[in-house]
Formats: sequence, structure tokens, C-alpha cells
Amino acid sequence: MVIIQPTAFCNINCTYCYLPDRSNKHVIAQSTVTKLFTELFSSGWTNPEITVLWHAGEPLAVPVAFYREAFATIERLRPKDGPGAVVVKHSFQTNGMLIDDEWCDLFREWKVGVGVSIDGPRELHDAHRKTRSGAGTFDRTVAGIRCLKAANWPFHALSVLSRASLEMPEEMLAFYISEGIDHVCFNVEESEGDYVSDLFQGAELRQRYETFLRKFWHLARSDGRIRFVREIDHALPRVFRPEGVRARNIQVEPLGMVNVDSHGNISSFSPELLGYKNADYGDFLLGNINTRSLREIYEDTLGSALLRDIQAGTEACRAGCEYFSVCGGGAPVNKLFENGRFDSTSTSFCTLTQMVPTDLILEAYDTLEQNWTADGLSTIAQLAAQPASPPRMP
Ligand code: SF4
Repeated sequence: MVIIQPTAFCNINCTYCYLPDRSNKHVIAQSTVTKLFTELFSSGWTNPEITVLWHAGEPLAVPVAFYREAFATIERLRPKDGPGAVVVKHSFQTNGMLIDDEWCDLFREWKVGVGVSIDGPRELHDAHRKTRSGAGTFDRTVAGIRCLKAANWPFHALSVLSRASLEMPEEMLAFYISEGIDHVCFNVEESEGDYVSDLFQGAELRQRYETFLRKFWHLARSDGRIRFVREIDHALPRVFRPEGVRARNIQVEPLGMVNVDSHGNISSFSPELLGYKNADYGDFLLGNINTRSLREIYEDTLGSALLRDIQAGTEACRAGCEYFSVCGGGAPVNKLFENGRFDSTSTSFCTLTQMVPTDLILEAYDTLEQNWTADGLSTIAQLAAQPASPPRMP
């Protein structure tokens, strides 16, 4: 996976934002995009299909014309034939406020996946997602969503769950249905960078999130209009997988994720490390693609304290956690932010993103097993056959 920060700038100022550089309007150069993909495609390390996520800052703050040029460059460089052929899928994670017909034309032309950040009904959304002058952003985000709907372009909603919304699964579901949103993803408001979430410090968080997710999932499935709940539907193939197969975790692999900032600096592992600084590891950067080859950056990464400590954390997880075969060692950034070190194990983040969904799926499986019927068998088959990942393409 490649995550590119076209600009660190964001046009709004959410209360829980961790990005330190969100007023900086610098935009990545087209020459940097060219160098990056020349290196990636000639490395031979890419999968046959790669996702390029434009994110971290508001990607739609950069003009449509920038992406037309960048996408055309990547398409020109992409190996198209033979065993080394690569398919590239572009994707945006956006606050949705700038979406208009011109953006929808770009999405359709390049089959771009779109995720819109919206935290639920107005009172929940506007409590945290604010303009720089402190006003709510709900109306403009919903206008963007309605533009996507009018263009018949698929998207998913990404909602940050707060202390208040964790108590409101019915209201969240009713909101998505009222706006015709059928693919949803949740993040719980967490401590990242300089932002400290009081929600994440609470001892009862696991139980509250488990109650929310169980209720939302069961309501959504029985209603039928929500077709994808990422927390469950991404976990399903990790839980129900072939014997002996370990779930892969690209966040602990060197350059498993290639994260690129607007100056061409490369980091890997968790994307949130890009732009963050720490006394032990400095700026977490592994090199700059404008001045070094990807191979040089990779070789330096292999000898880094960063990789050594992340791998020590992964091995500790392997030795001590019963969820390891599903999780693969978690998110290094959350180990650092929550535990103060990479070579550690459990975090609130892994409890919410790995343990709770796994437990809910196994709970549902146990319930089906107790009522074992032909219907039950087909329900399990349906459960395991849910779509693997948004965004969808028509
Ligand atoms: S669930 Fe947490 S403790 Fe367990 S393997 Fe994942 S990161 Fe490690």
C-alpha cells in the first residue's frame, strides 16, 4: 500500500486532529510523484494490485488538475503486461466539503475509491469537526455526500466515535440510512501525537465499545440496508481463514506500507508516524525519494532501531497474545503513543480493533452453532463471504 500526503494542509480544524503541520500549504511536486512511481514499479516489490491512498491533510484541497496529471503519469509508468503487470487503484480519504461535480467526474474517470469522514448526526459531527473559526462542518460534508449520491458514485463513511456516539448506535444507524450510506467504518477517538483522548484513558472503554459494535452490527444486519461494517467485515476473513495461514500485518513489515509526505520524505510502518517526532527515533523518516533510491531506503530500514524495536514488539505479541494469529502484532504507532515504546504489546487500540471484533464474530458463531440448522450453515457461509474491503468500484 502507498499512502501519499499531497499536502499537509487541511481546510478545517477537528478537535481530535493529530496532524502537527495542518496549516502548511506545500503541495507535493509532480516530479516527486514521477520519481516515486518510477522507483516503485522498477523495484519488483509491488503486488499485482496496489492501492494508492491520497490522505493526511485534506487531499481535495489540491486542485483536480493536479490529480489528472499525477494519475496520468502513474498510468504511463505502470507495467501493463506480463508477470510484472501492476494494477493501480487510487483512493481518497476526505472531509467531503469540497466535493462537487468536477471531483465526481475525476472519481468516475479514474475509478477512484472515496471515503468521507462524517461522525454521524449533526450534533455529534459538529461537536468535533469544526472550521478554523469554530463553526460546524456538517452541512458542507452532507452536501458533498449528496453530490456523490447524485453522481451515483460509491463511497464509504468513516466515523470517529466519541464518548457520546458510543451510547447512540440506533441514532448512528438511522443517520446512515437517512443519507443512503451503506458502507461504514468506525474509529474510536484515540490518543495520537499531541492529542490525548480522555475516552481512551477510561477503564470501561472496551465494554462500551463492544456494546456499541454488537448492537450496531446486529441492527444493521437485520435492517439489511447497511452492506458493509468494516470492523466486522475486515475481521471475518482474518478469523475464518485456511488452517495454518497467518493473517498478514503490513504495519510491521519494512516498506509493507510506503508513506510519502509532500516533500518526498518516506516513512513506513504506521502512516501516522509521518510528521511526528520523538526523542528516541527522531522524525521516523527513512529517506527522501528525490535523493535516494527505494532500495537504499529499504536497506537502511533493515538496519534501523525502528525496525528492531517494532519487531521486538511483534515477537512479544506472538509469544503472549492469543489474538496474534488474527492481528499479527498490531499498530506500532499506537504502541508508541499508548505504551511509550514499540517493543510492547497490548494497547487500547488493539483491544478495540482486534480483540473486540474477533470476540463478537466468535460470539455470533457460537450462537449459530448452538442453533445448528441448515439455515445456520448458510448464515455462516454468508458471514464469511462478506465483501473484503471498501472502497467499491462500479
Ligand atoms: S491484539 Fe494487541 S497484544 Fe495481541 S497481537 Fe495484536 S497488538 Fe499484540
